[in-house]
Amino acid sequence: MSPFRVGVQLLDLIGDGIVTFDASERAIVCSEVAARILGRPASEIVGSAREQVLALTVGVESQGISVNLHPVSEVGDETRSVLLLRAVDVSLLAERTSLAGRVEERTRALRDANAELERASRHKDEFLAAMSHELRTPLNAILGLTEAMQEGLFGPVTDPQGRSLADIESSGRHLLAVINDILDLSKVMAGKREVNAAPVVIADLADASLRMVRQLALKKRISIQLDLAGLPEQIETDERLVKQILVNLLSNAVKFTSDDGVVRLNGSVDARGEQITLRVTDTGIGISPADLPRIFKPFEQIDGGLSRRHAGTGLGLALVSRLSELLGGGVYVESTEGEGSRFSLTLPISRATTTAAPADPAVPDARRASVPGMRTPRTILLAEDNEANQRTFVGYLQAKGYTVAVAWNGEEAIEQAKALKPALILMDIQMPKMDGLTAIRLLREDPQFANTSIVALTALAMPGDRERCLQAGANLHLTKPVRLRDLTSAIEGQFSGGDQSHPTRGHA
Ligand code: ADP
Repeated sequence: MSPFRVGVQLLDLIGDGIVTFDASERAIVCSEVAARILGRPASEIVGSAREQVLALTVGVESQGISVNLHPVSEVGDETRSVLLLRAVDVSLLAERTSLAGRVEERTRALRDANAELERASRHKDEFLAAMSHELRTPLNAILGLTEAMQEGLFGPVTDPQGRSLADIESSGRHLLAVINDILDLSKVMAGKREVNAAPVVIADLADASLRMVRQLALKKRISIQLDLAGLPEQIETDERLVKQILVNLLSNAVKFTSDDGVVRLNGSVDARGEQITLRVTDTGIGISPADLPRIFKPFEQIDGGLSRRHAGTGLGLALVSRLSELLGGGVYVESTEGEGSRFSLTLPISRATTTAAPADPAVPDARRASVPGMRTPRTILLAEDNEANQRTFVGYLQAKGYTVAVAWNGEEAIEQAKALKPALILMDIQMPKMDGLTAIRLLREDPQFANTSIVALTALAMPGDRERCLQAGANLHLTKPVRLRDLTSAIEGQFSGGDQSHPTRGHA
């Protein structure tokens, strides 16, 4: 049997029909299956004109048969074209339908998951605000009372007690740094960290950043070298964010370099004059090639575990990397174990300001009431619902010679303000019954409190906190935990109406 015949029989076996035509377009072969599909005996079809055979295929498609006419060149005989009649596989159809169903199901599940993610992301902001409050409120009491005890406000402190208090304070400050890092990182990840570009003098930036690590460097006798040759005098960037990056890199450099080492800050401009590179080089412990990819990930510390020698949160470099991207640059590392590391920060020389965000929160607000002279007696009304914080503030302020009254919520604050006419009101924002913002607004509506100094205290460090407080009518906004010394100087500033700046503690 010719291979062609074998092919025809095979097609019969798998259920496909075939009719072949010669050069004069006459049917020369008709398979059994084709005959069945076309509804005529094969003997009748052989010899028919192609047009007649094709006419018989009308309507077979609706029965699940596909009709295809193929020209062929060489099949070993006189065949010039082939009509293939193929049963569309029903099982395939069923599979396709179920596949489509599964795709639709997955799409729906993905859509639901996306909606859920969006909801979760919204909740995350609220959760962060709440968490920040919950963590900072007790921390405020811990740090505040520690400071008050260190100052001897509750009696003389023995040496061992003093050392314990110093430990409590440094642990508390470390905890605060971790909270701030986490908040910072999540703000950046959520796209909430704004970039405020302005001309920045590089030498000033370098000085300010180095100042933050000088003390530790001095203690370890590490020499700090600064070389700004080859850098432009100024670039356009967000000063606070760059400083945050540099301080992080410099602190690591000092932290991971042993005594008598060298930490160097220098830089260069690229050939096109579009970006600068600032380099922080140290002669420290270095990082192994295996560990290098991990260091920019959150919570990664190479020297991890309980036995680690270096304190840290493992968040610094993750933040550095995100912040540098936010500024339109990047951060790179080269390191040799046992010899040292070099972190390079690239930054565009100019960059448009993305948002017109408010100025530094530490800068006093222009609307601050200018209280003529000193009011006597210097009565302060403290509206605060947390008892430990009340004790901290009251103890400290009384020791500083103020008369302090306490209100537990916004409603009480208004009542007490009317009764006592305090010179200054310290207003916590998150309080039961009536929150601080509402209380401030209501007080400002009353002409007798138009000039009363109101200092808002928030444990929230979310963007817009300060603006909301100032908009409600506060003169000043302080973030908890407030260093008591800063609180006093802020209060003094309000009483004197002077122009001194009021440092905002905690989160920048
Ligand atoms: P940490 O708060 O622990 O310093 P970072 O994210 O800043 O967290 O750094 C992550 C890890 O990268 C560090 O724990 C350290 O192991 C390594 N590292 C960072 N900078 C240096 C450096 N200059 N020299 C050696 N190791 C470093």
